[in-house]
Amino acid sequence: MSSRTLNLDDTLYDYLLSHSLREHPAQTALRAATSSHARGGMQISPEQGQFMALLVKLTGARQTIEIGVFTGYSALSVALALPEDGHILACDISDEYTRIARPYWEQAKVAHKIDLQLAPALTTLDARLAAGAAGQYDFAFIDADKSAYDGYYERCLQLVRRGGLIAIDNVLWSGSVAAPAEDADTAALQQLNLKLHDDERIDLSMLPIGDGLTLARKR
Ligand code: SAM
Ligand code: CA
Repeated sequence: MSSRTLNLDDTLYDYLLSHSLREHPAQTALRAATSSHARGGMQISPEQGQFMALLVKLTGARQTIEIGVFTGYSALSVALALPEDGHILACDISDEYTRIARPYWEQAKVAHKIDLQLAPALTTLDARLAAGAAGQYDFAFIDADKSAYDGYYERCLQLVRRGGLIAIDNVLWSGSVAAPAEDADTAALQQLNLKLHDDERIDLSMLPIGDGLTLARKR
């Protein structure tokens, strides 16, 4: 017994997946397709996708934001959990990556819920704010370029309603946040982690799932 979070070795991780993972066939197929992609390591883990889907259902989210789509697994996980009239404002700059996603979104019959905006996410988010969308979103997932995380967080904090949830990915950055920063991405994550710890605008939990996931609930 331990009062700390367990380290998962391969055997225990396999056990966790084999005793809990429930994927739509389109999710399984998209993971298989992405595993051979040169940047496939950017995809979230399947248990994280399932956890985020549960969060979406628990919070009754309908209007959501995703910053960083890649080949579309996290968007697919969230879209499957959304009600039929639910919606994802999906932000990415890469047509090359995101064009892989669409057939799988269609296979799962959720493509109509996903509004993919190919532009720098700050531009897309600022346009939503300028259009008066502050407070209109229930859930946001931040998983794009780490140097801009603080800007994404501040926009999402305006765009989600009170009680809305912001999930921020890679906050442990393979453990490198716990040592002096050797690059700009690590430094950006360290600064955001420090800021959120004392941020009275949110309720906070940092989870050691995947590469570290912070949950921030807007007060
Ligand atoms: N959430 C995805 C998944 O589950 O597969 C992984 C996202 S991947 C870690 C990061 C993505 O952010 C890439 O697809 C990249 O094209 C995108 N990106 C990088 N800079 C961006 C920017 N300024 N605005 C929007 N997207 C950006
Ligand atoms: Ca990530």
